[in-house]
Amino acid sequence: MHDKTLAELGRGLADKQFSAEELTRALLARIERLDPQLNSFISVTGELALSQAKAADARRAAGESGALLGLPIAHKDLFCTQGIRTSCGSKMLDNFKAPYDASVVARLAAAGTVTLGKTNMDEFAMGSGNESSYYGPVKNPWNPAHVPGGSSGGSAAAVAARLLPAATGTDTGGSIRQPAALTNLTGLKPTYGRVSRWGMIAYASSLDQGGPLARTAEDCALLLQGMAGFDDKDSTSVDQPVPDYRASLNDSLEGLRIGLPKEYFGAGLDPRIADRVMAAVEELKKLGASVKEISLPNMQHAIPAYYVIAPAEASSNLSRFDGVRFGYRCENPSNLEDLYKRSRGEGFGAEVKRRIMVGAYALSAGYYDAYYLQAQKIRRLIKNDFIAAFKDVDLILGPTTPNPAWKIGAKGDDPVAAYLEDIYTITANLAGLPGISMPGGFVDGLPVGVQLLAPYFQEARLLNVAHRYQQVSDWHQQTPAGY
Ligand code: GLN
Repeated sequence: MHDKTLAELGRGLADKQFSAEELTRALLARIERLDPQLNSFISVTGELALSQAKAADARRAAGESGALLGLPIAHKDLFCTQGIRTSCGSKMLDNFKAPYDASVVARLAAAGTVTLGKTNMDEFAMGSGNESSYYGPVKNPWNPAHVPGGSSGGSAAAVAARLLPAATGTDTGGSIRQPAALTNLTGLKPTYGRVSRWGMIAYASSLDQGGPLARTAEDCALLLQGMAGFDDKDSTSVDQPVPDYRASLNDSLEGLRIGLPKEYFGAGLDPRIADRVMAAVEELKKLGASVKEISLPNMQHAIPAYYVIAPAEASSNLSRFDGVRFGYRCENPSNLEDLYKRSRGEGFGAEVKRRIMVGAYALSAGYYDAYYLQAQKIRRLIKNDFIAAFKDVDLILGPTTPNPAWKIGAKGDDPVAAYLEDIYTITANLAGLPGISMPGGFVDGLPVGVQLLAPYFQEARLLNVAHRYQQVSDWHQQTPAGY
């Protein structure tokens, strides 16, 4: 059963080939057997999963037939789950049991999904290699010496290793698309405002967006359907109808205009990745798409702007972790100041502290204009570049990452080297646009991702193009050895 997609499992449940309880027991056993070598879960929620599976079987027996009813998933450990540890990959929240479910968790649970557990992640979603987790690094199932990408690295590794068919992630600067690329999955970052952020522990509020990680575009469509939609609890949620994402998966690509930004194919890109990306372009042409070169002239400023804005928002968001209200508290504080200092000093890891310091500095009175304000202006220019480009093309295509997965520890003492890996993904977050990464082949046995970006709220178009590509390619069906 573990090698079936969400859509196939849904059909198996509908045809009564197996029950949700049997499926859940089989996957829990697989997680117990194989996850110790990957470290993709922070918590496995076997009891909850079995009770949800039994409830789903009962609903089905009573005549219900929802598309997600009885299907197993896991949540990145920054989605609040009532009564269950929600750690955000941090010692700070190691003892935190959320008092409520995030909207995404509640919606998917109401649709009948079965939660197998909470997945490992970079601490507070800061990272691209899943190396900053308090719970230790996650291994890439394609080669355990390499990172699975981050920050949703646990979700990616678990799905890639067929421990379960799909999982949620969040993407602030690439954290769904980049791990999807590095583990041979399909991952979608929706338009900012499409998926509720309520109950999603904030990293950088103006950039964060939840979305699905799965093996196929069809499965991403299924999971997104259960996640998307207006939520009056999130003031940045957009009240716009949610289309039927599966209904348009097979739409024709005849006449589709694809733009290839020349800045995406310049220095810094591994030429073998460029070859894989261009091979995907050739397939899309055969399906009826036309291709033209475009320019996103301000892309070179994206990394510096992002690495001011994201830490600035993080330093403000993370001020709530003060050792008083919830989370980690140091032993025997001598006074209030000592309590704050040591609780934060002992509770946060090195990367989180670095970002808090950078952010606080960028927001300080003397430097606000020089850094934060300047970065916000660049953000507007980047958004304008996209708006101009989408006047001529329907989609923008390029690599998801400049290189395949690096070796665990290889960028350990050079945070900027890791930041540079985000070059192709962060612009979509700065502009609020939707993007998808789909499998496009391999380099040295490590997966390569092809990224597509679309205008606001055109997730259906991204899923359609990725699905059509997956009908004529089999990269997404490749399985890592031993899984
Ligand atoms: N790698 C980026 C960062 O560290 C993006 C992470 C994310 O999308 N959560 O900020």
